[in-house]
Amino acid sequence: MIRLSIIFFLLFPLLAILPARTFMNQKGQKIEGELLKLDGQTAHIRMNSNNKSYEVPLKTLSQDDQDFITEWYRNQGSSSKKEANDTVSTATEDGYKPSFRDSAQKLKDAYQLKDNFDAPWPDRVAIDLDIEIKVVEESKAERKFIYHSPNYEFVCDVGLSKNVIKKFAVLFEATRQFCKELPISTVKSRVPDGAFRYRILLFEEQQNYINAGGPPNSAGVFRTSTQEIMVPLKSLGVKKVGSSYMYDYKGQNKTLPHEIVHQLTDNEYYASGSVGWFTEGIAEYVAVTDYRSGKFMVKSNRKEIMEYVTAYGEDGTGGRALGENIHVGDLKSYMMQPYKKFVAHSNTNYGVGLLLTYYFFHMDGDGDRQAITGFLKALKEGKKGEAALEALLNGRSFEELEKDIAKAWKSKGIELRF
Ligand SMILES: [Zn+2]
Repeated sequence: MIRLSIIFFLLFPLLAILPARTFMNQKGQKIEGELLKLDGQTAHIRMNSNNKSYEVPLKTLSQDDQDFITEWYRNQGSSSKKEANDTVSTATEDGYKPSFRDSAQKLKDAYQLKDNFDAPWPDRVAIDLDIEIKVVEESKAERKFIYHSPNYEFVCDVGLSKNVIKKFAVLFEATRQFCKELPISTVKSRVPDGAFRYRILLFEEQQNYINAGGPPNSAGVFRTSTQEIMVPLKSLGVKKVGSSYMYDYKGQNKTLPHEIVHQLTDNEYYASGSVGWFTEGIAEYVAVTDYRSGKFMVKSNRKEIMEYVTAYGEDGTGGRALGENIHVGDLKSYMMQPYKKFVAHSNTNYGVGLLLTYYFFHMDGDGDRQAITGFLKALKEGKKGEAALEALLNGRSFEELEKDIAKAWKSKGIELRF
């Protein structure tokens, strides 16, 4: 219970504060002010100099500001919305109904799960494509259509054929399988099949998605307030052809697996010292790994990861374009920065988070993951901030760790400057 309240107290008061910052437009002009609200594609900003509020079209602002506003907006509404429609779950034999709000320890106890830190790193993750889809409800009058795959509940505002649902449900189920096989002991991904149904809200029109709170210009979002993923059908590769829907997805959308990982990441991993670099790093790690119809090719993902961080993806899937010489600054400050600050410079911070996450998984020490495992165990024990990072240092100073990281990435052709 205590751990649970820590995570929500941690997130919510931060989000309730109106974010003040220096905004910059595309022409490089700066305005100091406070973000009041986002109305479709228009940000309302109160300028510090004269205390008046202005309507600023989102697209006229710098990319950093757009990301910042979108990230802020996506976390809004948490206090006004009714309590989360908890994940659909099935009771155990002794009557326990698991909830996303439960601590990892509670879920572990209920299902007698063991940590999987000692499991081998998966080379390849694949699921059976022939998954079962059930129609739960189809109400045209209410525009509410509910479908189940083994571990997901899809709530859609338009009716879809079982065949189309089956095709996109594979991406969700495969991403869950990836998280389950990663030896980082996320409990939410390892509860028995069907114990949870993670809820996904699907929207026929982009505008309906935005009206429901989806950030403009985004392809999907995980909302901490409701623990649901919202996604416009377009992002799933579902297109309207005549009067019916067709499926055409080639793994081009990295947003979706990214958000699926957030939904499956244990609450404890969102503590300070980890939130930001690790929670975004792990989401990026999974999302950037090559995916094709139910299969993640994990073993060879370093190439994609480097390409994604340094350039725009070769296959046109986008990237961080940070180049091969990246300024990180002080590692400890980077890891300890509040999430709000982290997302304010999302492009660099997400890219660096991915490189660090990859480093701790595969390059640190002799590749035995001792430091990251110690760090994750410390988080599970309720440690946070510097106390948790102590485990990640694994006997080193921050300066020594910076040197280790820089050396490892330099040997692969990326210069990280601390
Ligand atoms: Zn994210």
